[in-house]
Amino acid sequence: MLLRTFKRGGIHPPEEKLSADLAIEYGEIPGSLLVPVNQHIGKPCNVLVKKGTAVKRGDVLAEADGFVSSNVHAPVDGKVQKILNFPQLGGQIKECIQITPDNPGESYQSVLEGDTFQEVDVDGLDRDEIRKTIAKAGLVGMGGAGFPTHVKLSPPPDKTIDTLIINGAECEPYITADHRLMIEKSDELVRGIKILQKLFDDVMIYIGIEENKADAIETLEQATKDEVKMKVIPLKTKYPQGGEKQLIKAVLNREVPSKGLPMDVGVIVQNVGTLKAIYDAFFYQRPLMERVVTVSGNVVKRAGNILVPIGTPVSYLIEKYEIDKSRIKRLVSGGPMMGRTSYSFESPVSKTSSAVLFFDDSVYDTRDENPCIRCGNCIAVCPMGLPVAQVTEMIKANNVTPDIKNYIMDCIECGSCSYVCPADRRLVHWMRFGKNIINREN
Ligand code: SF4
Ligand code: SF4
Repeated sequence: MLLRTFKRGGIHPPEEKLSADLAIEYGEIPGSLLVPVNQHIGKPCNVLVKKGTAVKRGDVLAEADGFVSSNVHAPVDGKVQKILNFPQLGGQIKECIQITPDNPGESYQSVLEGDTFQEVDVDGLDRDEIRKTIAKAGLVGMGGAGFPTHVKLSPPPDKTIDTLIINGAECEPYITADHRLMIEKSDELVRGIKILQKLFDDVMIYIGIEENKADAIETLEQATKDEVKMKVIPLKTKYPQGGEKQLIKAVLNREVPSKGLPMDVGVIVQNVGTLKAIYDAFFYQRPLMERVVTVSGNVVKRAGNILVPIGTPVSYLIEKYEIDKSRIKRLVSGGPMMGRTSYSFESPVSKTSSAVLFFDDSVYDTRDENPCIRCGNCIAVCPMGLPVAQVTEMIKANNVTPDIKNYIMDCIECGSCSYVCPADRRLVHWMRFGKNIINREN
């Protein structure tokens, strides 16, 4: 079979999908949760609770402020202990609401079993109602970006959407949370897709899945076999295929222009986890209060995929998976390519935490940067076709001229360039630094 993929650049890091065959397990309610107030891109929320407020699971803790913002809900029954600034997974310090649950230690599965399923007449839903329900439930892109879902699903009238792409690429090493959702929750995902289908006229749905997830391809082909407007597209395994622009190129052979968005080429991309959350919001009236997290890395005795309430601290996962703390030298939120190093075992799982990875020092390059040998590897693998070596030299020299700004802003921070550089140059870091310089100027 000829598999589709994006054409320009890309790499094949070792897959290390240690938890691919491990079913999603349920965590327990931890002794304390730290719920981040802002887990989205956009305007910060307004906190509605204070120290001592008793909350019920599903209550709004922080309310969206404006359209590009997103509600945050209490994942457990409990009491607000305090509101504090705390390091997040990814390193930034952000406001959090600390909740002491009423039922620590209770299986999260039993909590979920208390929720009532309610059949929904999807054909009877109107478009405004769908967007409002998604906004009310605090849904954001769960693949990492955290862009509010209702905003993404509300393109301006001059943009005609003819295609929805469901992103099942999960191309980062180690992460398997979406893979397991596609295998174990395929019917729920299809029901979530049918709700989104209602939003656009005559829209075609493609589910892009890399060939290293053959079981997910088969399961979703089966689940969509009677759907004429849904099609599973098996993709060649290549990093960073999960990037929106790369996925659109791979599935549709459409090119999102520089500084453009998928909607400029008639497409909206949705993550698998977000679709499951859409299903929960409609069929269980359950806002986004939980997520599946892959726990893995080279120091774990056993890896896994676990469904936990938002706000669960990393220390809970360390204990649950019996990870030897003394061996952990790097804690990474997300995948090893695009994820961020984190510094506190008490940092909480958020709506966008696809994975928490634990490593010793052996997998990270601690060598010094060496002079560029002009090999061109970074340019060859860059999926955005950027002249990486030259641009990073100019950033390093603090010479961010107007003509290189577009290159810098087009960088998707995939890390492919750093991965292949024989001179150990921290190319993606320089690109990020360049973006900071530009953002400071604006
Ligand atoms: S991190 Fe940026 S510059 Fe480097 S390969 Fe990826 S897109 Fe290109
Ligand atoms: S890969 Fe590294 S050494 Fe090769 S051209 Fe790029 S920056 Fe220079």
